[in-house]
Amino acid sequence: MRLAEIIVTYANGVQALKEVSVEIAQGSFCVLLGSSGAGKSTLLRCMNGLVIPSAGTVCDYSGQSIHASRRRLREHRQKTGMIFQQHHLIGRLSALQNVLLGRLSYHGSLRAMLPLPRADRIAALEALDRVGLLDRALNRADELSGGQQQRVGIARALAQKPSIILADEPVASLDPDTSVRVLSDLHRICREDGITAIVSLHQVDLAQRFADRIIGVSGGRIVSDGSPSDLPVETIDRIYRNAPPERLAA
Ligand code: ADP
Repeated sequence: MRLAEIIVTYANGVQALKEVSVEIAQGSFCVLLGSSGAGKSTLLRCMNGLVIPSAGTVCDYSGQSIHASRRRLREHRQKTGMIFQQHHLIGRLSALQNVLLGRLSYHGSLRAMLPLPRADRIAALEALDRVGLLDRALNRADELSGGQQQRVGIARALAQKPSIILADEPVASLDPDTSVRVLSDLHRICREDGITAIVSLHQVDLAQRFADRIIGVSGGRIVSDGSPSDLPVETIDRIYRNAPPERLAA
């Protein structure tokens, strides 16, 4: 997908992105690295059309603008799975029911009010199996650990059969060991299925461990772009120059 000269100015006047242009190769595992407030989340939200840029274009892999028509945006969103920091699960629903929510985009709003067909339930169970949680399918989501909840979040995105996964700080609320396990799962599954992943992180070590490409974001701009083996201290400094002190310690 390709973003050209994207500017995002929010209603409060904050310019979150300042002429950002970037092209993401299909099948890559790309990390957006930067501190809190850098603009990573805004960039990801532009990529799935949740934020409409004030200027610039967002094109999918067919080369067409995702905003060309409502239909195109719907098709783009259907192919784009989202994973959030706080997983956005519904706690009183089972893991399986949460994953089934990932299938809703394949049905009209009326159809979605009825029990989903067997094929959807099978797709959801398969997705739970991929993240090692088949035996927890019927547990309430709020009974699961933080790492398990994030795996359900991954399974929900997978059940959508996406070609792109956008993950917004998916491990920010997890401890370091669990973070590595969750990112390993996400990385393995994206590799196996050829899914393009764009993942925002603020931890340099995790970015270096999993990314094929690290895009440094700071102050609404891309300030570096390269392979994980090529991330000199000066580049890390540039990414975190305007960071609040507590983020530097994280
Ligand atoms: P990051 O994901 O790197 O933490 P964000 O994209 O969330 O960065 O935020 C970039 C800037 O835009 C910050 O200054 C933030 O306060 C501001 N911002 C983000 N979302 C909104 C919004 N919905 N309304 C107004 N300002 C926002």
